[in-house]
Parts: sequence; structure tokens; C-alpha cells
Amino acid sequence: MTRNGQEYLEALQDGRTVWLGRERVDDVTTHPAFAQAARSFARLYDLTNDPEHRDDLTVSSPSGRTLRAYDVPKSYDDLVAKREAHRVWAADSFGFLGRSPDYMAAGAAGFLARPQVFTTDTYDGADNVRALHQRWSRDSIFPAFTITNPASDRSKTLGEQEVPDLFLSVDQERDDGIVVSGSKMIGTAAVFADEIMVGTIEPLGPDDQDFAFSFALSPSTPGVSLISRMSYEAQAASGKDYPLSSRFDENDALLVCESVFVPWERVLTYRNVESTFGMWWQTPAYTYMAHQASTRFWTKMEFLAGVAVLVTRANGSAENPAVRSEVGRLLGYVQMAKSMVLASEAALDAQPEDGGAVRPDAAITYAQRILAGEIYPKFVHQIKMFSGGSLTQVPASWHDLHDATVGPLLKTYARSVTQDTEDRVALMKLAWDAVGSEFASRHAHYEQFYQGAPHVYLTQMAFAGGADECADLAGRALSEAAGIDSPKT
Ligand SMILES: Cc1cc2nc3c(=O)[nH]c(=O)nc-3n(C[C@H](O)[C@H](O)[C@H](O)COP(=O)(O)OP(=O)(O)OC[C@H]3O[C@@H](n4cnc5c(N)ncnc54)[C@H](O)[C@@H]3O)c2cc1C
Repeated sequence: MTRNGQEYLEALQDGRTVWLGRERVDDVTTHPAFAQAARSFARLYDLTNDPEHRDDLTVSSPSGRTLRAYDVPKSYDDLVAKREAHRVWAADSFGFLGRSPDYMAAGAAGFLARPQVFTTDTYDGADNVRALHQRWSRDSIFPAFTITNPASDRSKTLGEQEVPDLFLSVDQERDDGIVVSGSKMIGTAAVFADEIMVGTIEPLGPDDQDFAFSFALSPSTPGVSLISRMSYEAQAASGKDYPLSSRFDENDALLVCESVFVPWERVLTYRNVESTFGMWWQTPAYTYMAHQASTRFWTKMEFLAGVAVLVTRANGSAENPAVRSEVGRLLGYVQMAKSMVLASEAALDAQPEDGGAVRPDAAITYAQRILAGEIYPKFVHQIKMFSGGSLTQVPASWHDLHDATVGPLLKTYARSVTQDTEDRVALMKLAWDAVGSEFASRHAHYEQFYQGAPHVYLTQMAFAGGADECADLAGRALSEAAGIDSPKT
């Protein structure tokens, strides 16, 4: 048995410092801004003990049964099994819990596959990586991560910035560990996590050793604060009015460290620019995390396509040829999202340095980010187009439907020809929460940025996308053209 949802929720009651505005949140499992999302994460843990899903979601390890996400895949079949586990969890939140525990757990499996990246001239974190994976997998830990530096002057390296205290850096090096201060963003789901991986995934300047380190931290460590953004869950008037915001607001928080002590055994890289960057890109960590992300994305696209189909059926427009072809376009995108996952597995990469582990194909994985960033806004736009004014012509509250005065009016006038009022309002409220609400807007932003800004991943594609192979093929056509004896002179 892996831990269940109740055990997960109890572990969150550890005195962590979470701020929502000026309020210090005592307990995220009961606070109205967080409680339902905490329950949604807890449900994922309950699924791991559900006989229907247990074998998909968990795997036996030397320390007992653990989340399959922690497994280091050794074959195509292992990759497929991991994807199926990601699918079960993604489907539970319709793809809206982007940072379910399997995201960073998959990253930890990537670290373990290539621990030698953590052994450098300045520091040897390889054993700490092994211990981290063992601890996290033994306890089915929910890890979040903050590996982005706060907004800075992007034309300068971190060391050149004029406000160095903004960025997480080491105050003191002690025999037993380091003391750090500064901030990192954006801790998606960090307030719900057991531990936070802190590091830097973006390239650091060659002289940025002072900022080049990574470690795992419990949110309850003295000196750690998580400052939450606005809560969409708290704003959700009811589950019926906001069926997604009310349950799947995974939260984003700024990590602030004030003289936080981190013991050496939690430190993975130290004062080394190459290993701090390479832990994400040389190990399979990034591709494993992207495997979860692209599986979740595919699931979310299925959900949004489903909303689109239901809206067109409800409006009686489903058979209209123009509408039908736009639905066809969305369903085509769903298949593209699916194909990226399946293709990355089929074209798997087995690098000798990965010690027998396999990883999804990197170029296809990187390309998925481009597809995701481009098609997500199209789904949002198309659902709005299919819905028309009905998307906003809904009563202020679901409860109004049962009001003695306004209820009968709504029952008569807020229905459509094809649907009674309750069904119509329920569908339009779901659609609005998926594409129009503040929660929806955050999701559109998330799908665009959570795997890096476009200028980063597009540039990366220019290096990893097979430019030489493409140019060689075009070059052969040029050579052949040069040799063609054209009948027309
Ligand atoms: C909802 C959400 C959740 C997130 N969750 C997490 C998380 O859990 N953990 C985590 O670590 N991070 C997380 N992130 C952070 C995310 O990884 C970063 O936002 C992303 O990598 C972009 O970095 P940035 O925000 O610093 O943008 P910047 O690098 O500052 O870029 C912002 C914009 O500036 C322009 N720009 C900047 N530099 C250049 C350049 N060299 N060339 C061209 N244009 C440029 C581009 O228009 C770019 O889009 C999350 C982000 C979002 C939006």
C-alpha cells in the first residue's frame, strides 16, 4: 500500500508558513482558499490504493510499493506504463492539476538515471540524489519545484544584477550545510507539496557560481515562506458555479527563504553552473517531466474538445457543416497532442550514460511545447465561438434556479430549445470556467509558460530539431538540380 489521501492531508498540517494576502494560513487542508484543491490531490493518492488503478499507478520497489512515476524506465513498455499512470491521474482532474505529484517525481527518476551529472570538481551530490530518490519514492512524496529566478534584467547574468538579494544565494557555508536567503518562482502546487526542489533550470552565466546550487526543502523548514497568488478557489461562489476553479486551483506561490538552513545531505549541486543546469538537461529529468506534461496536455485537450462537442450539440449547431469542420479541427489537434506522446515513446533514446534507462525522444518532446503553446488558445477561442452569448447569459448563481421568485423565470427563459435550464446553465458554467474565468485565464498562461518562455523553447528547437538533416535533404535537391539537364534553356 502507498499512503492514502488522508495520510497525505495529515502530512500537510506541519506548520508551514503560507501567506494569502496579509493572512497567515494556518492549515491549507481546511482553509477555504485551498481545502478543495488539497482534497483533489488527496484523491490522487486514494486512487493509488484503488484496486482498479493500483497496478497502473504504483510499482514495487526495494522499499515497498511506490508511485510508478518514480520508476526509472528501462524499456518501451516501461515508458508506456508510466504514460498510462500519468493518464489516470490527469483524467481525474481533466488535466487541470498540472503539477500533480507525478511531475517532479518523474524528474527525480531522471536524476537517478544519471547520477554522475551530480559529481563535479566542486561538489559530489550523486549519493544525495540516490538518497533523495529513495526517500521520496519510499514515502510517495509529493514534490513541487521552484527552478525559475525572479524577474530580472534579462540582458544581464544574475551576478551582474543590481539587486542580488532578490535571488536565492548562500549566506553562510557551515560544516553541516548551507544557509540561504532570497526568492524563487513560481511554486505551482508548492503549498500542497511535501518537499520543494529548489534550483535553476535556465542557463546561468559562466561566473554565476554563487547562484548555481540546488537542494530539496520541506515547506515547513524555519525561514521558508510561500506567498500565494489570489485564490480562485476562494473566489468560486460554489462548486456548481465554478466546477473547475472550486476543485482544481493548484495554486502558485513565491518561495521566500530568510536564513534557511539546508543540510548537506539535501544539497544536490553546489557552486557549479554546469551541473545545476545539466541536472535537468543532461539527465533524462526534463524529458520524463515533459512526458507527464504532454500526457496531461493530451488529456486536457480531450476534455476541451468534449466541452466543444457538448456545446455544439446543445446549441443544435453540431450538424452545421461550418461548425462540424471546426470541431474536426479540434479533434485533429487532440490526435496531434496524443501523437506527440506516443511518438516520443516509440522513438525512445537509450544513452549509454543513462545506465540502461530509456528516455522519450528529446526533439519530439521539445516540439510538443510548441504545439501546446499554439493550439491551447485555439481551443479557448473556438469554445467561445461555439457558445456565443450563452456563455455569459447565465444566472449569477446556481442557487437562483431554486429561488421562489426568480427560479420559475429562469426555468422558463434560461433554457434552450434543446436543453432544460439546469442542464444548460451547468454546461455554460463548466465552459466558462474552462475558457473564460480567471482560473481559465491562468491555465492559458500556464500552458504557454510553464515549460519555459517561447523564445527559450523555440531557440532550443533550432538547435535540437534536426536542422542539419533538413538542410542536407534540401542540399541534395540543390545538387540534383545543378545536375539536371533541363530541356528548357
Ligand atoms: C502559471 C505558471 C506556473 C508556473 N509554475 C512554475 C513552477 O512550478 N516552477 C517553476 O520553477 N517555474 C514555474 N513557472 C515559471 C515559468 O517556468 C517561467 O515563467 C518561464 O520559464 C518564463 O520565464 P520568465 O517568467 O522568467 O520569463 P522571462 O524570461 O522574463 O520572459 C518573459 C518574456 O520576455 C521576453 N524575453 C525575455 N528574454 C528574451 C530573449 N532573450 N529573447 C526574446 N524575448 C525575450 C519574451 O517575450 C518572454 O516571453 C510557471 C509559470 C507560470 C506562468
